[in-house]
Amino acid sequence: MKRRDLLTTIPFTGYSLYVFAGSAEGAQQPSHPVSAPRFELIAPPGAKRGRVGAEPHMTLAELEADVCVAGGGLAGVCAALAAARRGARVVLLQDRSRLGGNSSSEVKMHVVGANSHKGRAGWREGGLIEELRLDDAANNPQRCWELWDLLLYDKVVSEPNITLLLETTLYSATKQNGRIATVLARCDKSEHLYRIKAAHFVDATGDSRLALEAGAEFRTGREARSEFNESLAPEKADQETLGSSVLFTSRDYGRPMPYTPPKWARKVTKDHLKFRSTRSWEYGYWWIEWGGDFDTIRDNERIRFQLLSIVTGVWDYIKNSGDHPDSANWALDWVGMMPGKRGSRRVVGDHLLTEHDLLRGDFTDAVAMGGWPMDDHPPGGFDRPDLPPNTVLRTPEVFNIPLRSLYSKNIPNLWMAGRNISATHAAFTSTRVMATCAVIGQAVGTAITQCLDQKLTPRQLAQDPARVTRLQQALLRDDQSLRGIRHEDPADLARTATIEASGELPHAPAKNVLDGWVRDIPGKEIHQWQARLAAEGAWLELRWPRPVTLREVQLTFDTGFQRELTLTSSDGINKGIIRAPQPETVRDYRLLAGPRELAKVEGNHQRLNRHKFEPVTTDRLRIHITATNGSDLARIFEVRCYS
Ligand SMILES: Cc1cc2nc3c(=O)[nH]c(=O)nc-3n(C[C@H](O)[C@H](O)[C@H](O)COP(=O)(O)OP(=O)(O)OC[C@H]3O[C@@H](n4cnc5c(N)ncnc54)[C@H](O)[C@@H]3O)c2cc1C
Repeated sequence: MKRRDLLTTIPFTGYSLYVFAGSAEGAQQPSHPVSAPRFELIAPPGAKRGRVGAEPHMTLAELEADVCVAGGGLAGVCAALAAARRGARVVLLQDRSRLGGNSSSEVKMHVVGANSHKGRAGWREGGLIEELRLDDAANNPQRCWELWDLLLYDKVVSEPNITLLLETTLYSATKQNGRIATVLARCDKSEHLYRIKAAHFVDATGDSRLALEAGAEFRTGREARSEFNESLAPEKADQETLGSSVLFTSRDYGRPMPYTPPKWARKVTKDHLKFRSTRSWEYGYWWIEWGGDFDTIRDNERIRFQLLSIVTGVWDYIKNSGDHPDSANWALDWVGMMPGKRGSRRVVGDHLLTEHDLLRGDFTDAVAMGGWPMDDHPPGGFDRPDLPPNTVLRTPEVFNIPLRSLYSKNIPNLWMAGRNISATHAAFTSTRVMATCAVIGQAVGTAITQCLDQKLTPRQLAQDPARVTRLQQALLRDDQSLRGIRHEDPADLARTATIEASGELPHAPAKNVLDGWVRDIPGKEIHQWQARLAAEGAWLELRWPRPVTLREVQLTFDTGFQRELTLTSSDGINKGIIRAPQPETVRDYRLLAGPRELAKVEGNHQRLNRHKFEPVTTDRLRIHITATNGSDLARIFEVRCYS
């Protein structure tokens, strides 16, 4: 019997600890300064060892939370942050030493999304992924991947409602009445086992490990064309998918740098590279891909070997074939050791997203937005030099993703976030990219808090149009981008105000900040206020006919959605990306209720800014901008006011 089987069938006996993860207090926003994580929860002092079934040397700790998120890629991180910031107690399990999944320094895959690099300019996602991108650009101009890891760690440990367990692998689940009751996870670094009880569980493991353990229905491989009439589908269904990849980085050392490949490196020739360009060398090639025609989970070790033999073979070709004499001074400075996975299990939800859904683009229960083209690869990857490494089917516009594709059809408290959502292979080839995974995570985390508040299952939430509208409005309040859905929050007092400004440009009047849209529609509509910054700055003032009581003001600034913004090692892609605060963004400003200063901010680079203060009763609110991060225009997309 395998160890996993033992652990699931032999009950834990004897000593165990019962502790609570996080605290529901301090909801909404992290308080500053943030207190240190509560390590006594995850390594309780005085715990006894030696009483845990077949694992006599492990210590068992029991945790209880509202939500347990398994997998700390961008989907899991955003699900955890969204749920925690809205007051849920979260346990986040990640089997690696760092967060970020394929975007972490372990794989170094740059994050792309709805704007398709520069292909659909203007459609960068808002919300949590934008917060991360902006912090990274401002604080990591040197493009260091480990600083991205650190940023994600910082965001997560700064949330008092999240208990983070790194290097901890979920390996089992128990059920009661068809629902997941607990999951088991192990951390061999600290010799702990964790039994985690929660009301909701999120599978953000990529490989759907939690869904597997819980007995959720899932799909693998590619659907037959006849099943959904998808143009990207093969004639016959099969078990093939996209392969995994290993990237590398290299640089010019200014002196000759010889290279000797390992003996097991592939012998790569020009014929292998007919459709694969080796013109730039600083950032490896996504098309060094292999194993889509094997089992990307079970055969991971074989896939790693093949990928490393291809990476070293391709580099040998660049250095030693004579075709790239200019590479003489170049040398590898990093090679990934972990195959970055693309395809494996996809959990079946109440709705299975198809190619047609993405082409059509809309759903009444829309909760997230995608836009990367459907981007299919030959499963054989590098072993199919006769084929181009991908086939692309572009959607006419960005598309919405429905809530019904984000929870399991047969396990009532299981959600999916990331590349494992309910989608056919064809649709998955688009939704798998990481900014899309991140916005899906934000949607799931937010939806869970609504289920917790109203004691609903995901299906009950999705089937109630009024509740779905409430969820969409909650998402918009947190800057989630949803195509075609406008902010109509009746609690927003700004909607009852009139507006004046120190000035406005004719195409971007002050009234735009109240029109319910928080982004421009590229080439079509402008939804922001713009005014020239005079010596004394520029201001915008909301006025109410009768005084209102305010406790919170929310401002959305322009952060240059028309540009791409991602951490990448590719010099080509990095061209045009600003690795600093974005110049359009308001930097210094004050919030004033008449003569009373409610907030003063210097050095802002974020798009969404919330200010909470002691209640103030006023008939006016002024936002006085004195500096931007470079532009000579003051710009605001939206002002919201809450009592
Ligand atoms: C080379 C390559 C090129 C790609 N190109 C792009 C691109 O240009 N841009 C882009 O955005 N996307 C790209 N993708 C796709 C993208 O990287 C993946 O689809 C994406 O990472 C999926 O996100 P995720 O959060 O679902 O999973 P992941 O990023 O894989 O994160 C899941 C995390 O869960 C952890 N985990 C797994 N099992 C467990 C467990 N049992 N317990 C605890 N933790 C667990 C994993 O270690 C991992 O860290 C590419 C992928 C590859 C491999």
